Amino acid sequence: MKEVIVFIEHRFGEILESNFDALSFAYRWQELNGGEVSLLILTSEEKKEIFNNLKGLGNKIYFLKNKILEEYHPEFYLNAIKMFLKRKEDYLLVFSQTANAYELAPSLAAEFFIPVITNINGLEKIDDKIYLIRYFYGGKICGKIGLLDEKSLILTIQSGAFKFEKREFSTLIEEQEISLPIEKNTEILGYEKAEAGEVDITQAAVIIGIGRGIKDQKNLPMVEELAKKLNGVLAGSRPVIDAGWLPKDRQVGSSGKTVKPKLYFALGISGAFQHVAGMKNSDLIIAINKDENAPIFSVSHYGVIGDLTKIVPALLKKLQ
Ligand SMILES: Cc1cc2nc3c(=O)[nH]c(=O)nc-3n(C[C@H](O)[C@H](O)[C@H](O)COP(=O)(O)OP(=O)(O)OC[C@H]3O[C@@H](n4cnc5c(N)ncnc54)[C@H](O)[C@@H]3O)c2cc1C
Repeated sequence: MKEVIVFIEHRFGEILESNFDALSFAYRWQELNGGEVSLLILTSEEKKEIFNNLKGLGNKIYFLKNKILEEYHPEFYLNAIKMFLKRKEDYLLVFSQTANAYELAPSLAAEFFIPVITNINGLEKIDDKIYLIRYFYGGKICGKIGLLDEKSLILTIQSGAFKFEKREFSTLIEEQEISLPIEKNTEILGYEKAEAGEVDITQAAVIIGIGRGIKDQKNLPMVEELAKKLNGVLAGSRPVIDAGWLPKDRQVGSSGKTVKPKLYFALGISGAFQHVAGMKNSDLIIAINKDENAPIFSVSHYGVIGDLTKIVPALLKKLQ
């Protein structure tokens, strides 16, 4: 595939952070396969300048412009991308794994009769053959998908799967004012902002991440004390959030938040890929788990095999 086209998402004048997942994948792809990296932006003439700081991030930026593309609408966006892709061949269209991508990627694949692979978590080249990596069966099996001779392909990229390393390109801009049908079957009534919690874990330098291994709510004060001692904040894996032990905005992972603290302490967390996706780029990861085969140890810099209900109190004593 000659060109990797990254679909850029924005909302109310802000470029979404999640775009960097797809962009990081595109850079890695280019490293292994060559070709060009392009950014695809759907917007209006009036809002175009908010994308100025994306210049330099790809070989090309395509602007598809129309007043009705100013904000996301599934039908308008789908029609615009269809028009754009009709004049393309030999491309890899890449989305970051978002709700909008779930809507657009399969619809486009069906329209153009090309494969779509979701939740991509890794990319490898072995003996000149490219493999895409994703998990199956809720993370129990890790699969490598070898590519055949697909001319074009659509992918969605798992949050946090690829580390973003800025590249400099001299960017060619291509702008096109497109006309689109204004009939629609879907009306977006509005967006509701999720309630802001007291703590923004994405900004924390130290995070104590707790998992199901914490066992009981009565063990929370012990980890709260550890967080306090280390000037950190508490976050959790999904079971801890589902149990109501921590608020929803403290969930780390693919359906929670992506964090990059200086220190991530993983206590009683097995290391399911959905969790790891949200914390693996932390500067330093220390895990405590009683199972020596827990996958969390494969992303940890330091690991302690043992019972956290014994190790944490001992650590607290040391920190006195
Ligand atoms: C679509 C989807 C999205 C998801 N999104 C997320 C997400 O955003 N974030 C997320 O976290 N998960 C997410 N999950 C769930 C994910 O698959 C795992 O089920 C979850 O991360 C497991 O949480 P855990 O590690 O706390 O629990 P477990 O997997 O049950 O692990 C508990 C760990 O604690 C250890 N342990 C037990 N007792 C002790 C002890 N006394 N001392 C030390 N260690 C002990 C065990 O050895 C084990 O490794 C998602 C799943 C799906 C299907």
